[in-house]
Amino acid sequence: MTQYSIWVLEYAYVANYHVSGIVYGAHNQGFRKLPYCYVLIKGNGTVAMVDVGYNEKDVGAEMARKFNVEAWQSPAAILAQCDVTPEQVEHVFLTHAHFDHMGNTDAFPQAKFYIQEKEVAKWVWAMALDQRFRWLNLATDPHDVLRVVDLARQGRLVCLDGDRTDVLPGIDCRAAYDTHTWGSMFVTVRNGAGSRSDNWVLAGDLVYSFENLVGQDPEAPPQYIPVGLGVGSQTNLIFTTDRMVQEGGGDVERVIPIHEEGLRDRFPSRINANGLRITELALADGERSRVA
Ligand SMILES: [Zn+2]
Repeated sequence: MTQYSIWVLEYAYVANYHVSGIVYGAHNQGFRKLPYCYVLIKGNGTVAMVDVGYNEKDVGAEMARKFNVEAWQSPAAILAQCDVTPEQVEHVFLTHAHFDHMGNTDAFPQAKFYIQEKEVAKWVWAMALDQRFRWLNLATDPHDVLRVVDLARQGRLVCLDGDRTDVLPGIDCRAAYDTHTWGSMFVTVRNGAGSRSDNWVLAGDLVYSFENLVGQDPEAPPQYIPVGLGVGSQTNLIFTTDRMVQEGGGDVERVIPIHEEGLRDRFPSRINANGLRITELALADGERSRVA
């Protein structure tokens, strides 16, 4: 039995992103496409997401210009590909506070949001630092942090203090402190009945690409290489990578880097009329394919 359908939904992309930003130390290796995606999870009578993308207005739009993001489409348009509306989304797992993951909470008016308490606290701390420390904030819109704090005021925020199992049935949040950000987390979907062989690990930005999971040399034994952007420790990043692989039943292909264009080579997918990809990781019993 498969509990949840899971789709990786591209909502924008950077056409030419420097590879050294993706793989730590990969200097002078040029540029490649960097998709921007969130994940839709549907099943067990609910609709959930991992991250929400950014909103193409105000500071979100300014940051998108700074990073050369193009082809943005709204969640209403993107989710319609799976016959879901933003209003139907009941649960959102925020892997971390970077603008391209946490910048569009406003688009999901019925959702309850889950984030690590440490992520919220440390971004408030970082915002209070002298401007000489502003590199720490280079991918975070302070207004997104304020919006998340306001979700708490509305009674729609759950602050997690470390790992939590079965946040929804078969869906676990796993803390990854002091890695890509101070309070990053990843999400494991245990889609089979008890067996780890049908687990999916939704990695947020703890890995960007397959190379972070297996290295850059296909002839060499696999190795973990950290992502090219982090405020925490490289050691924590690669040990978190190993933990994700273990949660994926030891299969690196069950760890899903959402900034990886190569997902198209591993999973059924298609490109929509706006040049954005929908990738189908799993179909719950009774659900029809959106890429066939
Ligand atoms: Zn990030």
